[in-house]
Amino acid sequence: MRLNDDVAENRRLTRWADLLPRAPGQRGGVHETDAELVELGDGRLLALTVDTVCEEIRLGLYRDPRTAGRLAAAAALSDLAAVGAEPLGLLLSVTLPADDADAVQEAVARGVAETASAAGTFVLGGDTNDGDELSVGCTAAGTVPCGAELRRLGIAPGDLLFSAGPLGLGAAVAASTLFAGGTLLPESALAPPSRIAHGIALRGIASAAMDTSDGLLATLDQLARLNGIALHVTRAPEEILEPRALEAARRLCLPPLALLAATQGEQELVFAVPPRNVPSLEAAAARLAWTPVSLGHAEPGSGVFVNGVPFDGARSRNLLAASAGDLVTYASALVAMTSRP
Ligand SMILES: [Mg+2]
Repeated sequence: MRLNDDVAENRRLTRWADLLPRAPGQRGGVHETDAELVELGDGRLLALTVDTVCEEIRLGLYRDPRTAGRLAAAAALSDLAAVGAEPLGLLLSVTLPADDADAVQEAVARGVAETASAAGTFVLGGDTNDGDELSVGCTAAGTVPCGAELRRLGIAPGDLLFSAGPLGLGAAVAASTLFAGGTLLPESALAPPSRIAHGIALRGIASAAMDTSDGLLATLDQLARLNGIALHVTRAPEEILEPRALEAARRLCLPPLALLAATQGEQELVFAVPPRNVPSLEAAAARLAWTPVSLGHAEPGSGVFVNGVPFDGARSRNLLAASAGDLVTYASALVAMTSRP
């Protein structure tokens, strides 16, 4: 069994890689980077990534096509940020439902445009189809100087863990949609800030980085597996959550940790910094008027720990499939996993 086989999504990605030809000059192995990296021959790497928003639409989590546009672009751009790349642009592949195609197209375009302009980038082109259900695929391309790229590998014991901003809004909006008809937190709250400038600033400072498109604890679980290390979250979940997410957890009587364990993430950047690089991080943060959120640290060992308690990342990451895609079953199992004894 390979290192990442405990997690169904990892098995699926590994199988795709086994079935498909891989470029001989590609930097890094499967699972090791958020965006694929290919040498351009001029001292730069081309960074490429693609994300599709369709499950969230099918599950009823994104009801507004503008959300789908905003998040498809954010998911692709956060992968570029996680390798420290500067964007060249985006490509879209959109399937529009026959009902109200013009209005849906306009809303998707507004969402994509909002995210692209916040990241200082543009849409280069794309493809459009008609179908039964809306689906928004977004490819992002960027460049990063060879050797300056960020990867998921490189965390050493003693490294400090940070996120680029407070977390939990993705899961909190999903919980609001599921349990409160969207009245607590509207979909418009899902507007991940661009982290392109932060990813670039972390070149040479971070030992590893990854985006939280699957939520904080799934991200840390993946980084712990890849690096063969134990990752300890030592801050209380209440101190890590975005204030609106914390308020939603309180109103819905959900354990705050559930919003960090849910696989509905927020496209934020998680990164590790060796202690010797902390002064450089502080200088970069001051330059960008940015406050990274301190999460914890790495230790020899394996797995993810939240305030000393082991967290079963494989179980939480496989929970939606184990719940046969039923969100209420998933949410109750997740609440049971994350409630304090
Ligand atoms: Mg990613």
